[in-house]
Amino acid sequence: MHRFSMIIDGDERPGVDWFASDNPYLGAPWAEIARASVADVDDAVQAAHRALTSGPWSELTASGRGALMRRLGDTIAANARHLAELEVRDNGKLYREMFGQVSYLPEWYYYYGGLSDKVEGSVLPMDKKGYFTYTRKEPVGVVAIITPWNSPLMLLSWKLAPALAAGCTVVIKPSEFASASTLELVRLFHEAGLPPGVINVVTGFGQDIGPALIEHPLVRRVSFTGSDATGRQIGGQAARNLKHVGLELGGKSPNIVFADADLTAAVNGVVSGIFAATGQTCIAGSRLLVQREIHDEVVSRVVEVARTARIGDPMNDETDIGPITTPAQHAKVLDYIEIGRREGATLVLGGGQPTIGACGTGWFVEPTIFTGVSTGMRIAQEEIFGPVLAVLPFADEEEAIALANDVRFGLGAGVWTKDIGRSFRMADRVRSGTVWVNTYRAVSFLAPFGGFDDSGIGRENGIGAIEEYLENKTVWINT
Ligand code: NAD
Repeated sequence: MHRFSMIIDGDERPGVDWFASDNPYLGAPWAEIARASVADVDDAVQAAHRALTSGPWSELTASGRGALMRRLGDTIAANARHLAELEVRDNGKLYREMFGQVSYLPEWYYYYGGLSDKVEGSVLPMDKKGYFTYTRKEPVGVVAIITPWNSPLMLLSWKLAPALAAGCTVVIKPSEFASASTLELVRLFHEAGLPPGVINVVTGFGQDIGPALIEHPLVRRVSFTGSDATGRQIGGQAARNLKHVGLELGGKSPNIVFADADLTAAVNGVVSGIFAATGQTCIAGSRLLVQREIHDEVVSRVVEVARTARIGDPMNDETDIGPITTPAQHAKVLDYIEIGRREGATLVLGGGQPTIGACGTGWFVEPTIFTGVSTGMRIAQEEIFGPVLAVLPFADEEEAIALANDVRFGLGAGVWTKDIGRSFRMADRVRSGTVWVNTYRAVSFLAPFGGFDDSGIGRENGIGAIEEYLENKTVWINT
């Protein structure tokens, strides 16, 4: 079985032990990953701190960092197929989706690499005579990056690219369920000329090594993507230790379809919004809010499209829906389907567990749709992270906004309407980090991304994201 070592100070290291990484399609292990100890975490942070303060990385000019980041982007482009395949083995998502994602990632390294020599301070006009006072921006320091399993390299790159552009060094803790692509990426980066210690990867279980990483005195920022429960814990630890923190957490995003919408586009947006990635995205459009007069038509069209989705091998280009990534997540999704039934919602599609996979053992769940859902039900409030859609009718704009905002999350929202005035009114009043009008799930390195309310703290992507990795210093010179 393939073994993946962790990477500390440019060296591959076995760790105290190995743990299995499972292939969700086969429901069986396919690789072994090094398990880090707390001492390994300390070594990784020390290596990152050394690289920050001395040696080739610290001596690079900002333009030099940009040039190196271009090479890192090229490295991803040249290895996109291989990296995407590792992701599919680990998380079971569709190869065509992971390949699409990985192929797009070089843009993050090019964009933030391009920004690295455009970070400027300023000379301040002063209210006192005899001073020359200016500001400069410095890397925040060693950054701990903690990522989930659903899009490992994409969510990593949203943090890593601005961190490197700012001149930081990092220690990455990928998900224990999907570490392989991160380890391979960082190995390839070293082959491409990345100096040792700039990017270190420690692998293992969050509860075991997470606290040692977050609380380490030399770590100055924690950038986390994952569940809101873990985010609360990490945010608390970071705050107690006075670290900068960025949290990208979960969602319960609505797709809001008005009677005047292009229904074909809306139906496709709703279906891909919830069933792409088998519902395992933070921006899954897990609530369909639909205007009452078109409720039955939209539901029957969504059901029709979802019914014909092909469930199967994620490596096969014909497959629409792959497995759920972990057995625990699989059990959780099936539990929520049971909860929906008990709460009195009407199951109009799916709900079952098809036996698919090479040995009939993959962790699959059918695309599932509940109607008759009311906003107080758990299936309308809690993040399921699986292919389960809750449909709620609304009468008018006011009710649509009230329902859209009646959850503790605020990550994304889709609005489907041909009325331009309404699209602006909805964009104003829906509480979420992103509002998509007549589209859904679009992301870009140029467009800030993040959550309102319990969906997180901070923004990734866009020019502003680099500021999260910079400290501001003010210098007073008595002339
Ligand atoms: P998770 O919170 O279980 O784990 C995420 C990471 O945190 C893993 O690397 C895990 O090992 C680590 N971790 C767990 N406990 C820790 C601790 N005590 N200290 C330090 N690290 C710890 O999340 P998951 O199940 O891997 O991912 C799914 C979740 O991620 C969903 O809630 C989803 O909405 C969210 N997500 C959010 C975004 C976003 O950008 N907002 C994107 C993708 C996924």
